[in-house]
Amino acid sequence: MATEAPAAPAAPARPTDPAIRDQLYIGGAWVDPTGDGTIEVLDSTTEQVAGTVPEGTPKDVEKAVAAAREGFEAWSAVPLEQRVETLQGISAQLAARGDELAALIASEVGMPLAQSRAIQAGLPAMDFGGTAQAAGEILWEEKVGNSPVVREPIGVVGAITPWNYPLHQLCAKVAPALAAGCSIVAKPSEVTPLSAFVLAEIIDEIGLPAGVFNLVTGFGPVVGEAIAAHDGVDMISFTGSTRAGKLVSEAAAGNVKRVSLELGGKSANVILDDADLTRAVKHGVSNCLLNSGQTCSAHTRMLVPRERLEEAEQIAAAAAEKMAPGDPFDPASRIGPLVSDAQRERVREFIEVGEKEGAKLVAGGADAPEGLDSGYFVKPTVFSGVKPDMRIAQEEIFGPVLSIMPYDDEDEAAEIANGTIYGLDGGVWSADPERAKAFARRMRTGQVQVNGATFNPLAPFGGYKQSGHGRELGRYGLEEFLESKSIQE
Ligand code: NAD
Repeated sequence: MATEAPAAPAAPARPTDPAIRDQLYIGGAWVDPTGDGTIEVLDSTTEQVAGTVPEGTPKDVEKAVAAAREGFEAWSAVPLEQRVETLQGISAQLAARGDELAALIASEVGMPLAQSRAIQAGLPAMDFGGTAQAAGEILWEEKVGNSPVVREPIGVVGAITPWNYPLHQLCAKVAPALAAGCSIVAKPSEVTPLSAFVLAEIIDEIGLPAGVFNLVTGFGPVVGEAIAAHDGVDMISFTGSTRAGKLVSEAAAGNVKRVSLELGGKSANVILDDADLTRAVKHGVSNCLLNSGQTCSAHTRMLVPRERLEEAEQIAAAAAEKMAPGDPFDPASRIGPLVSDAQRERVREFIEVGEKEGAKLVAGGADAPEGLDSGYFVKPTVFSGVKPDMRIAQEEIFGPVLSIMPYDDEDEAAEIANGTIYGLDGGVWSADPERAKAFARRMRTGQVQVNGATFNPLAPFGGYKQSGHGRELGRYGLEEFLESKSIQE
């Protein structure tokens, strides 16, 4: 009898050939772009070209919106059950291509492969599966007095997405828009657009009516703005920076289209005085450093009782130093590079700002990590003694930089936690879950994790204040794409 264990399936490797994409997906077909520009996509570790995509133009947007208007007529008439089956089919195909997607996104974004497999490739399949489930929870029709109230799709949706979780951000819009009966013009980030082409291939194979899903790649101020301003678009669902979200809102005002915004964050992780400090700090460091700190909901401010500041900074420094950066395709790497040279430079500048502001550097720093010949790496960095008015306590850095901030009592902790323009996410730690939940209610944010609870992909996700408005995921996410019609009888 054989005693050898079956060989483990080989982990996907870094793609060897650049992904050359020279067509856009419009009106149910791959079509040549109207311009001849291309955008190079770089592997964030090797700094070599990982692929190229068309540099779309406003003329491409024109064609895509015209196709989407026709697609909307067809798709909104398809029965809900069939739309839900389509979502389930896309979910299954995304799951089947998970290894390929994980490698593609590990190469362009730089997230370590195992995490990329679970999160970057895993979440998109869940976005479609979860939305299929949520479609069954919507009250599609109800009676209010003498009025049947019916929920209907809003129309043509422009979906504009960022680079940090490229496929998840896109699927968190495409899945509910399709479930609602909308058609879509999608513009992924020009920095990490490759996985969107895999989604378009899957949708093409599944065979949606022509024009229901359209993909136009290009730069934000050109293609993004053309979509946001277009009179033929009924809604913009935007994820990205607060800066670009404001521009999108202005461009969208021309025809009073609906705008849903998922923007930046500067989330606070509040460790109350009765919490298990070691556990809370270690967990907080991992949360902050996930995807090299390029997560909108990252807990980048850690609030600790003043009398435990020194203890907390030692635990945090030790945890950060263990997270040595390395090639995302090396299983030993806990953290990869940042997405681009521009992002690396921005983050290093912020680290220098923190030092100049007088924060205490307890791990990392602005100099390049040793032993890495290429790649946009930044050392996991921890500042302590950070004051609420410092720039590193107020501005979104979007890199592996944690600010530890002391507080004297719970009221002050709440004031500091709520004292930024953002309100996306947060954490609270206490030995008493009821005390933690009571504090969570004081936080002006869209999400709060109590004692490191896991992310729930069916719960509404979105921001307060300048972190945006509107919600994604699950039933709440689907409702964003619906209108309500009252029929009096
Ligand atoms: P970004 O704002 O630079 O770009 C996002 C998208 O908007 C890209 O597709 C870009 O091409 C496009 N864009 C840029 N300018 C535009 C304009 N004037 N008109 C129309 N479109 C335009 O953001 P980024 O650097 O790609 O991503 C990082 C940001 O995204 C961070 O601020 C992060 O917090 C935020 N983010 C938020 C969430 C959330 O759910 N709240 C999730 C992920 C990322």
